[in-house]
Amino acid sequence: MPLYRDEAVVLRTHKLGEADRIITLLTRQHGRVRAVAKGVRRTTSRWGSRLEPFTHVDLQLAEGRSLDVITQAETLDPFHARLGLDYDRYTAGTVMLETAERLVTEEKEPAVQQFLLLVGGLRAMAGAEHPAKQVLDSYLLRSLSVAGYAPSFDHCVQCGVEGPHRFFNPSAGGVLCASDRLPGSATPAAETVRLLGALLVGDWPVVHAADPRHLREASNLVSAYLAWHLERGLRSMAYVER
Ligand SMILES: [Zn+2]
Repeated sequence: MPLYRDEAVVLRTHKLGEADRIITLLTRQHGRVRAVAKGVRRTTSRWGSRLEPFTHVDLQLAEGRSLDVITQAETLDPFHARLGLDYDRYTAGTVMLETAERLVTEEKEPAVQQFLLLVGGLRAMAGAEHPAKQVLDSYLLRSLSVAGYAPSFDHCVQCGVEGPHRFFNPSAGGVLCASDRLPGSATPAAETVRLLGALLVGDWPVVHAADPRHLREASNLVSAYLAWHLERGLRSMAYVER
């Protein structure tokens, strides 16, 4: 079987047979890959915790007929160990993993930007520099953008006139001017719209200065925007307080 190397983040695992697991990975060069880890559920497993969700690993894989097989794994960053100590960061991180899996839809189609975004997002989530909820919101807006659903928070998505605009509609893809507004649009505070723009580009000084009420409103709109673009909701989102 031909071998290849890649680095990856472990997104999810599930049981296979008596002692094995199928590991769903987001790799740097091969996009989303599902691969078998043999013997990983034995107590004497040589894999240790290297193939747990969140772990950033360097891998060697053997190409299989249906699923590839992991032959070597070395931990680059044990995000699991760092996130596991903080419930908010852990649950928000779980939403990131599920989002990455859902937005990278094709197996073995390179998705370098999504990979880099996920590693950067997990690093920010594991650090203490920014609040967990805003790291999550920023990641969600950016991963949706990379997937082709970039929201607009300044120009009206219908006519392109520059804002600020008061109306926000997930189905339209962002803010709308007064003449193009759709029924049922949200009317967030001007500060919330500005905050959403800051989360999208990672303008952290604006995020840190924001009022809690605007942070909450922004989180709800990000959730609505994400829900609109995913066919079914994220299971993991239920554990994140919005
Ligand atoms: Zn307009």
